[in-house]
Amino acid sequence: MRLYNTLTRCEELFTPQRGRQVRMYTCGLTVYAHGHIGNFRTFVCLDVLRRALKYLEGYDVRQVMNYTDVDDRTIVESRKVGLPLREYTDQYISAFQDDVARLGLESVEETPRATDEANLRAMTEMIQALEKNGHTYRSDGSIYFKISTLPQYGLLARLDHDGIKPGARVDSDRYGKEDARDFVLWKATQPGEPTWDFGIGPGRPGWHIECSAMALRLLGGPPIDIHAGGVDLVFPHHENEIAQSEGANSAQFSRFWVHVEHLLMDKGEKMSKSVGNVFTVRDVLEKGHRASALRYVLLSVHYRKQLKFTWDSLAQADEALTRVMDCLARLDTVTRPGAQPEVAKKVETARRGFAEMLAADLNTPGALGVMFELVRAVNAAIDAGEIGTTDVAEVRNAFEYFDRVLGVISVRRTDDSAPPVPVDEIERLLGERKAARSRRDFAEADRIRDELVERGIALEDSAGGTRWKRK
Ligand code: AMP
Ligand code: ZN
Repeated sequence: MRLYNTLTRCEELFTPQRGRQVRMYTCGLTVYAHGHIGNFRTFVCLDVLRRALKYLEGYDVRQVMNYTDVDDRTIVESRKVGLPLREYTDQYISAFQDDVARLGLESVEETPRATDEANLRAMTEMIQALEKNGHTYRSDGSIYFKISTLPQYGLLARLDHDGIKPGARVDSDRYGKEDARDFVLWKATQPGEPTWDFGIGPGRPGWHIECSAMALRLLGGPPIDIHAGGVDLVFPHHENEIAQSEGANSAQFSRFWVHVEHLLMDKGEKMSKSVGNVFTVRDVLEKGHRASALRYVLLSVHYRKQLKFTWDSLAQADEALTRVMDCLARLDTVTRPGAQPEVAKKVETARRGFAEMLAADLNTPGALGVMFELVRAVNAAIDAGEIGTTDVAEVRNAFEYFDRVLGVISVRRTDDSAPPVPVDEIERLLGERKAARSRRDFAEADRIRDELVERGIALEDSAGGTRWKRK
């Protein structure tokens, strides 16, 4: 498989370093809010990478995807609502797991939390190794990484060393390329912040040390094969992860760096919690869209190109998937026995084309295109009566083969097994319920609510009106 490596800015042939096992780390969600569909673009694309490595390339994949459950943002937000950090982040981890299931992401082998004791200890040990190797200094109880001590600092992000201010340091987890400077590994205890002490003084980890330590602890030491995340992580997060890991171990941290481009809103701005223009997976589902359509949209553009999100694209994705499902259903109508050589040839070409597309730096739109060519060919063969029952089995196998990697058909089947009440009907029933309440016919209002609940739709009444959601 050929994969674009951000480290070399080249497409390279990927093979794992140790036998048939791919050791891969994905930077996971910062669990201070619900994940938005931009986050899920990255996670769905990386799920397809994982599946392609497993089912097309035949590798055994060991993947770690962390939860960032302590950083500047989680601390600020948990304090705002007065909840202990762990309790605050629990709710978003559980919501993330629901979204992951709805979008049909495979379970990964490890999902560590930064605040698990074993991970905090691993971070402490890595900082101790960095101190020993002369890469750190202390100031006011915090420990910083001195970037001038590591000649390769800036290689991933292609930093211009002339612009770096020597001696200046930065305490926040997230900052821009123009602010490249000594960054914090361990932050001294602040009033009201969580604090741990495993031997380097009381405090809490900086964001970057979390991933370096968890990746190496759970993936069996350097170098790991693939480190992945959204493109915004190249700097400072991944640059600093490299500095920490390589400064502590004097060995390459990760052989491949894979970065997924952003999902943008239709006016071209990045979807981001800080901009406040986010839609979550549940927002999309509550508007009556299928999870399978969302998964399809997220795969419809190559992962290294920006994806402009529109509501229209969801409707188109849904139609496209309906064509696949209709084609699969039509196969049941074939009764002619035996095989037709033309169909077998088309199936074979499609299987090969599909694998080639994904092996070419994970070309998901190309792979979807191959799937639709087969849909067209099969429909034409059914129309002409030139397909036999033996072909039908092969065609079905081919779609299963595609879907082991793309995962859109299986999610669509799950969507359809619990059909939501059509949105128009929900709106109509809500209107009737409102009218019943205003004429004080509460029995009728309750009957409508019960009917919706029974059909899987929950209602939430508030001063602003009634909201509905899937149960
Ligand atoms: P965060 O919760 O901010 O740490 O982000 C979790 C993952 O989502 C990271 O890999 C980010 O790079 C990625 N991400 C954040 N925003 C977007 C976006 N608009 N499009 C694609 N990926 C994103
Ligand atoms: Zn990370």
